[in-house]
Amino acid sequence: MTIGDDDQWRTAPTRCSLRIKAWRCSRVAPPGRKRCPQCNERTQRVNSRRTDALRERYAQRKAGGMCAYCGRVAVDRYATCTDCRLRRSKNWYARTRRSERLESSLV
Ligand SMILES: [Zn+2]
Ligand SMILES: [Zn+2]
Repeated sequence: MTIGDDDQWRTAPTRCSLRIKAWRCSRVAPPGRKRCPQCNERTQRVNSRRTDALRERYAQRKAGGMCAYCGRVAVDRYATCTDCRLRRSKNWYARTRRSERLESSLV
């Protein structure tokens, strides 16, 4: 890549990267943003609706003694079943290890 290419890349308007199936937005996004204002608002709306639904489901399952993630019978004292608890703790372990590795490489 030459310096000229790099400059062009930096000054060219960012196109909205939102893609839904075959449709692609590609409206011009404001500087420093990946998405145009319309798509930003749209995804925010969808996300907030989704988290609301998830929170509701979580509360319902927890109250009913079910795993909050898969809906199977939860283990006593926990909000999740053994499978989900192990999977989640494994994920957490992997994340921690990765961040620790990053930190050690910075030192
Ligand atoms: Zn867009
Ligand atoms: Zn589960």
